[in-house]
Amino acid sequence: MAKVVHKFGGSSLSSATRYQAVANIVLSQCQPGDCVVVSAAGKTTNTLVKLWQSHEQSDVRAFNDILLQLENHQRELIDALFHGDRHAELLAQLLNELQTIAAESESGRLHNASLLAHGEVWSARVLSNFLQQQGVASRALDARKLFTLNDGTLLHAQNREACHGAVTTDEIHVVTGFIAADNQGVTVTLGRNGSDYSATLLASYLDASQVAIWTDTQGVFSTDPRKVANAIKYSKVCRGQAELLARLGNPVLHAKTLSPLKDTDIKLQVRSSYDPDALGTEIVKAGYSKEKRFITTFEQLDLLRVEQLHSGEVKQLSQLIQHSIHHFVKAGEAYLLVPSAYSNLIINRLEHRANLVESQVQGFAVVAPEQDVTHLMAQAQELLAEHQIVKRFTLQEQNYSLVLTDQVIDSDLLALLHEKLINKGRELAVIVAGIGNVGQVFIEQCQKQITKLSEHFDLKLVGLLRSESMLFCPSGLNLSAWQTQWQNEAVAYSEQELFARIKELDYEHKVVIDITASEPFSELYPQFVEHDCHLISANKYAGTAKQSWYLSLRQQLQERDLLWRYNTSVGAGLPVNFALADLQNSGDTVSKIEGVFSGTLSWLCSSYNGSCAFSELVLQAQEMGYTEPDPREDLSGRDMQRKLLILARDLGIELELENIELEPLMPEALALGSWQDFLAQTELLDNFYAQKYQQAAAQNGVLRYTGKLELQDDGKVHAKVGVAIVPVGSAIANLTPGDNIFVIHTKWYEQNPLVIQGPGAGKEVTASGIHSDLFWLCQNLK
Ligand code: ASP
Ligand code: MG
Repeated sequence: MAKVVHKFGGSSLSSATRYQAVANIVLSQCQPGDCVVVSAAGKTTNTLVKLWQSHEQSDVRAFNDILLQLENHQRELIDALFHGDRHAELLAQLLNELQTIAAESESGRLHNASLLAHGEVWSARVLSNFLQQQGVASRALDARKLFTLNDGTLLHAQNREACHGAVTTDEIHVVTGFIAADNQGVTVTLGRNGSDYSATLLASYLDASQVAIWTDTQGVFSTDPRKVANAIKYSKVCRGQAELLARLGNPVLHAKTLSPLKDTDIKLQVRSSYDPDALGTEIVKAGYSKEKRFITTFEQLDLLRVEQLHSGEVKQLSQLIQHSIHHFVKAGEAYLLVPSAYSNLIINRLEHRANLVESQVQGFAVVAPEQDVTHLMAQAQELLAEHQIVKRFTLQEQNYSLVLTDQVIDSDLLALLHEKLINKGRELAVIVAGIGNVGQVFIEQCQKQITKLSEHFDLKLVGLLRSESMLFCPSGLNLSAWQTQWQNEAVAYSEQELFARIKELDYEHKVVIDITASEPFSELYPQFVEHDCHLISANKYAGTAKQSWYLSLRQQLQERDLLWRYNTSVGAGLPVNFALADLQNSGDTVSKIEGVFSGTLSWLCSSYNGSCAFSELVLQAQEMGYTEPDPREDLSGRDMQRKLLILARDLGIELELENIELEPLMPEALALGSWQDFLAQTELLDNFYAQKYQQAAAQNGVLRYTGKLELQDDGKVHAKVGVAIVPVGSAIANLTPGDNIFVIHTKWYEQNPLVIQGPGAGKEVTASGIHSDLFWLCQNLK
């Protein structure tokens, strides 16, 4: 079976907890025969570099301090992760190595690359031992036995043979990243951040099927997500753009990483070891993904003009400074963009061929599809002018452009640039589940809404689902002929196929709109979130699921910057959720919500006047399509109980469905048994209702089925749905049959409550309520 190479970077291995997390990923994702390439733990390489510097400066004190720092860090890991003999052995081995380092420094035999290699050697040893301790067959492999270079050039044939010889199919191999050996067996490094390169090299030698780079961000973003909150995570990026980004200094992709994959079919994925369920970004071959837009910023660079820059020289220079160097040609002249700290070194190395054109400049580059570059650059220039940013140099190439400036492009300016250049015209893929009454009207209303949102979003309806069939069209369905397309092209529904199709979607944003009434479908929400989908639901099940499940879904959404709207799950299109959010945002506190939240029960109670049996009204309502297929769903009060729970949770109250007292609108005996049994005993229902009706009349009130949520000052919550006698003339008593009413008491609306009233069901209002959620979503993604 084709092998997979996983690579974990320093930040994924910075503490014992991180090692445990990595081991869990390995346990769940690796097969024997796979390889796990590791970098030095945390900032170990930086510390080793400092150790080397102190050695060179003969600063014995600093040297000893730094050595102790390394010892403590490794010791902490070993103490936390191991016990018994293994612990003792690993510790002894470590101390022995540290002693050797100290002795070599003293005797002047210390060798730079061999010293740096310790970081990766320690990581591989710790991880493979930890896996063994968990009963996983695994082995540490020193990459110096796999990768040999002759005068800086990799000996591919020899290395390929070495890799095939060393990697067996019965264990997981934990391989040191970053290091290799020369012909004489002397340690060399592959350059800073070289472990990604080790991983892709190894994959190419092993003819692996895939490389997964596990890092601390969730993938490749449109811009730095630490600086711009709404940076877009792309699910797919093509190799050409990825390489360009790497050359421009993208922190996730490194310059050499992609080169071994050229001309291979090996897939490359960037994933987060902090969130292993997230999909990450896949780097695909040209033509397998649309080209995307990116902005990368630069700081502290010098621009050098170089005469007669030879091919291969840039590579040597980046090797020299252990940093990627961007180079380009403008008006026939070759330029290098180098970190200011290294420019002297480079100028010296180039011996009179390099001239400093700009020093200590900042700036940014815009990477975009060819047809967009020119106008994006024009927009960027406009924005720079508005902000009095002084330009020092500009370059416009086919697939990117760059601007060097005096001022730093800070997060605020970057956010503005991102807003103007990247966020406009983003694509949003819409998947609609449930295409019954409401779903169909929703699709009919789509065209108008798409035009309305077009300034910010290119919205495409890409998927339709029903319980038995589904239809996907990644480029967007034809909205005027979707029904024919559905008839001709829909395929059998399966969860596996559904997620496979979602995974293939190459859109900046995706949303699943659940218009089903299916509980099993709502249970898929966490998986939609794992597939980076926003959620809109008319379905009430997720909002009323167990509190722990609900909270973990919310947390999962938050971690991935995904949004969830469910405005229509209560009161259909009535803006109840908006009102509650607004009240809370404006500093008000809700103390009580009561009302009628079921169109069916509203119609039944308001229509009954004793002139005909209650059960007849129920059957009439059923015939008019006002009820659930089995009207007992409505009569049971469950539906209203769910709605009350959704409202309660919107107020931040932690509550379970069972905590809401429920009094059905039918005698208990009728709830059991079949619908036929029910029909045979309707007089039970009729007597039940008539009796309550008379009771109400005797008290000068009318009978309504209401829900009530009360929040007491001591924090106690009282929630109930059931039959209530309400005074004649009150808002609830005067309700138009079929309407919903929400009476909201707050600190400010105390004596005279805020009332929201109107149809709480119906396909048009519900569909437009869903559009309102979609519109809100787009506004919030802007
Ligand atoms: N440990 C090395 C470094 O810090 C290699 C790597 O992290 O990829 O540069
Ligand atoms: Mg690293």
